[in-house]
Amino acid sequence: LQFSDLGLQPKLLQAVEQQGYKHPSPIQAKGIPAVLSGKDVMAAAQTGTGKTAGFTLPMLELLSKGQRAQNNNVRALVLTPTRELAAQVGESVAAYGQQLALSYSVVFGGVKINPQMMQLRRGADILVATPGRLLDLYQQNAIKFNQLEMLVLDEADRMLDMGFIHDIRKIIKLLPAKRQNLLYSATFSEEIRDLAKTIVTDPLEISV
Ligand code: AMP
Repeated sequence: LQFSDLGLQPKLLQAVEQQGYKHPSPIQAKGIPAVLSGKDVMAAAQTGTGKTAGFTLPMLELLSKGQRAQNNNVRALVLTPTRELAAQVGESVAAYGQQLALSYSVVFGGVKINPQMMQLRRGADILVATPGRLLDLYQQNAIKFNQLEMLVLDEADRMLDMGFIHDIRKIIKLLPAKRQNLLYSATFSEEIRDLAKTIVTDPLEISV
């Protein structure tokens, strides 16, 4: 199986080639077509399996088709448990999306909020965020979700371990009901499944 079999446009295939990836990893082979189908996806994947490209590539593909984000709006929200992971996902978005005219921002706590507010004024097709800072920015009116199309929870199990459950529930309530949801987690414990029930609808389930 080749990357070119998965339904990604040439610009994304070129980016993949530039990264030196020869073949899709199992989570990518299953996950990319699943995300492109437009359905909700729940994927069990550890770090190191290529999960980031697994959701970033089809997210970019889908976003490349719609209208760009306008003032303070976000079209795809990626939540991560840590600033390190947020930065890493941001780097993947930058690398794979190089040739697409999509905007993105990465925001996390522990740094000044004002530059982040400034950055969001023009909107972001993709916003990668940690939950606490996202809520702070929302409360400051720096983010609008009217154009939101997609929610990605990355490392959902770690988010629960780190006590982000309340923040996540608050965030979900702010989002339009009609959206595509992707939930990635290393494990699918009872607790994760309970959370998932409140987020995803009739998901495609993937494990590798
Ligand atoms: P992740 O699991 O998303 O943290 O990715 C782990 C590492 O695998 C990253 O350094 C990626 O650049 C790399 N990677 C992702 N997909 C592929 C692939 N299809 N072939 C080779 N390396 C990959």
